[in-house]
Amino acid sequence: MHDTPKKPRNVPLPQRPGGVEEPWYQMGLRFRCTQCGNCCSGGPGFVWLSLLDMQRISAFLNMEFDAFTRRYVRQVRGGFSLVEKPDYDCVFLKRAGGKAMCGIYPVRPGQCRTWPFWNQNLQTPEHWTHAAGRCPGMCDGDAPLYDVAQIEAGRNHPESPE
Ligand code: SF4
Ligand code: SF4
Repeated sequence: MHDTPKKPRNVPLPQRPGGVEEPWYQMGLRFRCTQCGNCCSGGPGFVWLSLLDMQRISAFLNMEFDAFTRRYVRQVRGGFSLVEKPDYDCVFLKRAGGKAMCGIYPVRPGQCRTWPFWNQNLQTPEHWTHAAGRCPGMCDGDAPLYDVAQIEAGRNHPESPE
C-alpha cells in the first residue's frame, strides 16, 4: 500500500461533469478481498502509521511500545511507516496455501482498513479501474456492495491516505 501521509479531512466530493452534486459512485461499489496480497507487496512503498495504530499493534503483539517501534517502524517523510522485508513485502505479510494474510489483521493500520475507499481511487471511475488493475477484489461483480455512506466513511477516515 503506497501513499503519502498527509490528507485534508472532509475531502470535497469529486463532481460529475456539469457540476451535478453527487459522486460517480452514488450507486455503491463492490469489493471483496481475494487475499492475493498485491496491496501488501510489490515495489517499495509505505504503510503509514498513526500513534493509535502503533499502540494497537504493539499491544496486539504483546510488545513494549519502544521495542515495537525499534523493530517494525521507520521514520520517513515526516511520518511513521512499517518496515518492509527485503523483497518489499510488508513485514507482517504471511503467505500460505496460495493466500496472503495479514499477521496483524485485527489491528491492521487505518490505511489498510480503509482500502480501497481512498480518495485517490475515488476521483473518477477511471481512477477506480486503474487501481483495480492490481486489486482483483475491486472488480468482482459478485462482491458485497458498499453504499455511498460506507465509501465516504472510508474516504474521509482520519487514517486513510489522500
Ligand atoms: S490487492 Fe485487493 S484483493 Fe489483493 S489482497 Fe489487497 S485488497 Fe485484497
Ligand atoms: S499491515 Fe497487514 S494489511 Fe497492511 S500492508 Fe501489512 S500485511 Fe497488508
